[in-house]
Amino acid sequence: MTANDSAALDDQGDLYYRHTGHAPFAGTTLAAILSWIAVAVLGAAYAYADLYIKVADKLSIVITMAFAAAMGFTVFGVLRFGKVRNTAVVWIIAITSALLAVYASWVVWEFALYRQAGHHISLQGLWRLFRQPNDIFLIAQGVNQEGTFSLSSSGAVKGTELWACWGFEALIIAGCTALIPIAMMRDLAFCETCSRWCGNVKGVLRLQPTNEDLLRERLETRDIKHLLGLNRANSETPTHLRVDLDSCPSCKETRLLSVSRVAVAYNNKNHRNESAKKIIKKLWIGADDVEAIKSYGAPAPAQKVAGAATLRDPAASSMASEVTAAPVAPARSTGIGLGSSNMQQNG
Ligand SMILES: [Zn+2]
Repeated sequence: MTANDSAALDDQGDLYYRHTGHAPFAGTTLAAILSWIAVAVLGAAYAYADLYIKVADKLSIVITMAFAAAMGFTVFGVLRFGKVRNTAVVWIIAITSALLAVYASWVVWEFALYRQAGHHISLQGLWRLFRQPNDIFLIAQGVNQEGTFSLSSSGAVKGTELWACWGFEALIIAGCTALIPIAMMRDLAFCETCSRWCGNVKGVLRLQPTNEDLLRERLETRDIKHLLGLNRANSETPTHLRVDLDSCPSCKETRLLSVSRVAVAYNNKNHRNESAKKIIKKLWIGADDVEAIKSYGAPAPAQKVAGAATLRDPAASSMASEVTAAPVAPARSTGIGLGSSNMQQNG
């Protein structure tokens, strides 16, 4: 434990990582401008795709979602690039980008619709249209009375039904564009010493469930041994604890521990589904603690281990509940690695 760590532990509030709230002026300004340009361009591309790609309804929802996800991830990438660690600023940029994405796609869609109908409108005309939200609404009202597409032989979809479709479409675009960056920025950790984002490794360890309140209490006093005293699980154990680490790639200062309770299930197509609930989120730990965790997680010489219950192994799975409850002797490795394949070195 370094002097810095001890100082951090003095204050209960500093046990867990929080964004500092810094929003560098240049980075934030650039992030806002780039986000707005990016969503306007993607919104325009979406408008053309929407107008010219004639596909079945289900596929058109997939296209909408693909554009919406692209907008959300672009805004996230730009905020990350701008090193914005202020939650309020993240929300403001994400929400303004979301509104602009919907509005720009509408402006360009109406512009493209006019051109498709043989009217010549210049790019200056497009810019003029952009600055007239009232006109955009009136044109939409006009289009709504005529209808734009038909679902079946019953004729064009129009009126209330079409407003509902448009509302749903706007909700997908605005929702993804705002919520993806907000959620993903919240999950990042930033090393203020090195001014860079930390890397995140998921599943450094997988352990058997335990009393979570006690675990949290002990870890908050930096009793890493309590964690390492738990029996091992693996990624196939139906319910287990997954240990994740955030660490700065440049220094030994920023080391953060997260623990999630994971439930593993397989659907009838044998697709693995892992649902995780965070029970400890970004607790400050020291570099020595990380070493202890990693050496515990390192694969030991091959050895047949009883109690490595998996969902795919019916014989073993019947033992799963016993294994969870039984106080087994100090755990040996089930051969889990350090999850290096998941390593993201976020610069
Ligand atoms: Zn650092």
